[in-house]
Amino acid sequence: MARVVTPPTMAELLRDPTFAAYMEHPPHSRHPGLLMPGAWRLWAVTTAGGWKTKLYDDYPQRELNTLLGDSRVRDVAVTSRRVFFSPPGEWEEYKVKVTTPTGPRIELRERWVPTFRWDRGLSWCARCRRPSLFMNWSPDHHALRLQPALTDDAPARCYYCGIRYAGLPRDPYSLED
Ligand SMILES: [Zn+2]
Repeated sequence: MARVVTPPTMAELLRDPTFAAYMEHPPHSRHPGLLMPGAWRLWAVTTAGGWKTKLYDDYPQRELNTLLGDSRVRDVAVTSRRVFFSPPGEWEEYKVKVTTPTGPRIELRERWVPTFRWDRGLSWCARCRRPSLFMNWSPDHHALRLQPALTDDAPARCYYCGIRYAGLPRDPYSLED
């Protein structure tokens, strides 16, 4: 059986300077999906294992900081409900050979290259803006209880927000701004 990797907590992630810098600049994008009511959902798991959640119209920075300082809280995730975010990274130019009616040609393209690494077994959740564990959770998973209908195909879902891995955009993600 594959080994299950526990995602690092938000407090642990924030010890990484690259991730800390990413979290220091919460998205204040004018993306229409972030301007809609309830754009953000804060998830917190207590040291006793219970989950709490609340919706916010604006990025809940103050609440996040409060929870990070609360010894009864084990981990938190701030989930963007409509907009997907790339991991910390930078644009890189690369060349690709393309075939055109007039013959082969070299094209210059750009790609987003992550500058932050996470453990094997975890994947970036573009909604939770952090590495997460995607598994086939039971229906009483805290986030899945909020979803009336679940599909059975490609059932691996995020530990925090419950989104299907197959439902996340591959490339490119919506970026920070
Ligand atoms: Zn997630």
